[in-house]
Amino acid sequence: MMAKRPPLSTVDKVLALSASSQLSDLARLRALASCLRSGIGVRLVSTNPPPGQTMKKRILSRHHTAILARFFLVGFLLFLWVGPISAQPIPLSIGASVLPEGEINAAYNGDLGISGGVPPYTIRVLKGSLPAGLGIDNTGAIIGTPGPLARNTSFTINVTDSSGSFVSKKLKIKIYKALGITTASLKASKQGKKYGAVMKATGGKKPYHWSIVSGELPSGLAFDSATGKIAGIPTETVSFDLSFQVTDPLGGKAQKSFSLPVAPAVECPRAEPGSDIVHFGSFRQPWDKIPVITLSGEPGDPRINFTFEAVDCWNLRLAEIGTPFRVGPVVYTTEIVPLDFLAAVSASALGEGPRPDLPESVQKMEGDIIVALSDGDFVSFSARYLSHGKVVIGIRSEQVFPLTLRNVPRNVIAHELGHAIGLGHNDDSTRLMCGRPAPCRPDAFESKTARLFPLTVEEEATLLELYPLDWTPNP
Ligand SMILES: [Zn+2]
Repeated sequence: MMAKRPPLSTVDKVLALSASSQLSDLARLRALASCLRSGIGVRLVSTNPPPGQTMKKRILSRHHTAILARFFLVGFLLFLWVGPISAQPIPLSIGASVLPEGEINAAYNGDLGISGGVPPYTIRVLKGSLPAGLGIDNTGAIIGTPGPLARNTSFTINVTDSSGSFVSKKLKIKIYKALGITTASLKASKQGKKYGAVMKATGGKKPYHWSIVSGELPSGLAFDSATGKIAGIPTETVSFDLSFQVTDPLGGKAQKSFSLPVAPAVECPRAEPGSDIVHFGSFRQPWDKIPVITLSGEPGDPRINFTFEAVDCWNLRLAEIGTPFRVGPVVYTTEIVPLDFLAAVSASALGEGPRPDLPESVQKMEGDIIVALSDGDFVSFSARYLSHGKVVIGIRSEQVFPLTLRNVPRNVIAHELGHAIGLGHNDDSTRLMCGRPAPCRPDAFESKTARLFPLTVEEEATLLELYPLDWTPNP
């Protein structure tokens, strides 16, 4: 076939290509490309065109070859440069190397940070497992709430995209124990005494943040939200119901309710039942308002404080009975109730002479229950002046027996306040309201400890009759 090859005039190595049907077009193109790569000039000749086919003859000069070579080179470089950006997808990857910490009972929110590849992804946990309560959605978000049994876990995540690419990564999640309040109860506080207590929590991640979500602390006490410390000197004597909450940076939250009783500075015991206690009636005349107490005495008189203690103790007892009735507020005055009036009322209470009228100066005094801390020597009393809407309580001098005895004055004042709100006497010398005709006298209140004597349960029942649960002050 190549026998009648025409003479070739160039010095170049020459490849003669047959355009005959015996070489395929593809083979010719390959040969041509091979020549071009080698910088060989190519002469296309056909010695033997097939019958009826026009021979195509073209000679590529050395110049044309160089242009073509550059063209291919530029194309190839463009392929290298542009190809990966436009045609190749961004490689699939898991971006997260550290996952957020979790906590039992706190909502968790993490993300694998999957990028690249061809979504949608198929996500599987290959080795290990997620903490109990957590799951992964097909975007790579890890959500849920770690359950009570959740622990620190390591696991290998495999992400496969829809083109079949896949990537795996080993990850771990730290799980903190559930946040909880461990304080069981709050110790009782005492009015006027320094108080300190610290709320304690367990689990979760520090720092904790504390708050009171319902109720209020007794006035005088403060709460530190960073340390959970309650501190101060309480000035009110009631039992306070409070709900504390602790939170942590992982979203942990715990709440617990407490009562914080504030005992009066003086012991104020609950009513005690007693067998065979004889009660000698009562005044049976309830207040239709919360009576204001006017306290008349010399500044510095120790009985001023005893009166406040007695009022607080009465209000604590009234609150426990359940009635809304209270005594007080207490208004202090240096205005003096005349001694001759007090002595005359005291004598009349013992059946020694008529009861004097209420002096004009006392009528004009502010308040409903006037407690006169006298320096006179008479038997202490409580006298009702119904037409004036007042009760006058006269207290014997604390310089005179038996008020010189320890613990006696405060109980005498509390006893007379009992009469002022409607109670009578009983015959049990271990009770606050013991009195005539029983033989007990105030010296029975003597005690080494500061304590008010208790009521009887019968007296509590009498108070509830006088001031029932639905008692409301008259407007
Ligand atoms: Zn009495």
